Amino acid sequence: MTQSFSELNLAPALAKAVAEMGYETMTPIQAQAIPQVLTGRDVMGAAQTGTGKTAAFSLPLLQRLLKHENASTSPARHPVRALVLLPTRELADQVAEQVKLYAKYTQLRSTVVFGGMDMKPQTLELKKGVEVLVATPGRLLDHIEAKNCVLNQVEYVVLDEADRMLDIGFLPDLQRILSYLPKQRTTLLFSATFSPEIKRLASSYLQDPITVEVARSNATASTVEQHFYRVDDDDKRGTLRQILRERGLKQAFVFVNSKLGCARLARSLERDGLNTAALHGDKSQDERLKALDAFKQGNVDLLVCTDVAARGLDIKDVPAVFNFDIPFNAEDYVHRIGRTGRAGASGLAVSFVSGRDARLVGELEKLLGKKLEIEALELEQDRRPAGRFNDGQRAWQREESGREGRDNREAREPRESRGARAPAPRVARAPADPFFDQPYEAKPAGDTPPQWETAQRANAPKGLSPNIKQRRKVPALFKSSAPPPPAAS
Ligand code: AMP
Repeated sequence: MTQSFSELNLAPALAKAVAEMGYETMTPIQAQAIPQVLTGRDVMGAAQTGTGKTAAFSLPLLQRLLKHENASTSPARHPVRALVLLPTRELADQVAEQVKLYAKYTQLRSTVVFGGMDMKPQTLELKKGVEVLVATPGRLLDHIEAKNCVLNQVEYVVLDEADRMLDIGFLPDLQRILSYLPKQRTTLLFSATFSPEIKRLASSYLQDPITVEVARSNATASTVEQHFYRVDDDDKRGTLRQILRERGLKQAFVFVNSKLGCARLARSLERDGLNTAALHGDKSQDERLKALDAFKQGNVDLLVCTDVAARGLDIKDVPAVFNFDIPFNAEDYVHRIGRTGRAGASGLAVSFVSGRDARLVGELEKLLGKKLEIEALELEQDRRPAGRFNDGQRAWQREESGREGRDNREAREPRESRGARAPAPRVARAPADPFFDQPYEAKPAGDTPPQWETAQRANAPKGLSPNIKQRRKVPALFKSSAPPPPAAS
């Protein structure tokens, strides 16, 4: 099997881009898939994100499209030749970014369209003409209906993260899109698992595909140290902080099962003094991309996310993944912890198992094919000041991380007052606080009190605590805990 990119005889423009990315050796999925795609075969690939599958389909596809490369400014000379479909906006954005990098020394054009964004700029890009179009299904259909793109010259279709597209309910959209494409084409399908539904999809739309598989679809990387701790729901946050502290972890993904839980946890952790961002289906596209970027830049320590929002995110070197909730769908465990321990680096995956999780743990054991050891974790005495979350907690965080500066004076005060308190036997529970029932909002810049705090104070009826939320807001909360709609376009 070919192992080195130099053995592929890629066109110099592509080879240069690959070299610039620092890749020399192909990953197993690349070594298996690239030569097949170069010969024009349909491919069905069992590969998860993090295996290098984007390059596995992009490079051979670009290589074969080079015959159409031209410098003409006429849109007619740049029809869509390759269509890459993905389930979520983030994935589409990420894949499009990679395609652009691989194609940067060619004259092939590419763009991305996904929902949650104004259609106009996307329309302008489409009208200029692009050879490679990366898209989420719903938004692509919008553009097709608006006659912003014509797909009758498509030669390649990639259905990436096909299992997730079916999970989200994109099958009818996919069927419609595929019906617009020429029958004579190469179709590539990538999926983390080959469920019966995926096999049916493949048998309908792929012709004599070759199957390439890099690892057992439900395998977890051996480089990930996995722990399952028995933790009461109320202790989860304290335990999370304790592990971050004890392990000296600077960044982590924290997975939760619901959008509301995601927003509430992010907000609570932010109040604990950790730089936190939330990533869930109710966040606008702009907010999601900003959160992701802040995490990539290291300005955010914890990214609290739901499965749909985080699936396939290409964030390298996340040192740890926390399953704050055991996932409802056991396969999501594999996807979640695939964020850490990538490309041979070591990673840590910690899962909190509460008393209600017996069934989910059973399903996980079935999927992973082994009995899970659920460990007890000694919770150390909480070092936070008692009472409402306040600046003291941020001070605790600053002390922990050894940050210096003008905040030190503020930091010492809570410690002195803490000294007078008798030690608590175990983690103090966060006081019941209606505050945490509010949707997460990003912290405003600077040290000024958050806008929600001042607004709440201003609106509070006289004689009532400003923390008592007004009744009429409650239905809005219930509304946002409704089951997630299709997350992508
Ligand atoms: P993917 O599975 O396509 O999301 O890729 C995961 C990550 O691996 C991306 O950040 C790629 O840039 C990186 N990558 C892809 N191919 C290689 C390679 N041959 N060697 C090293 N890194 C790679």
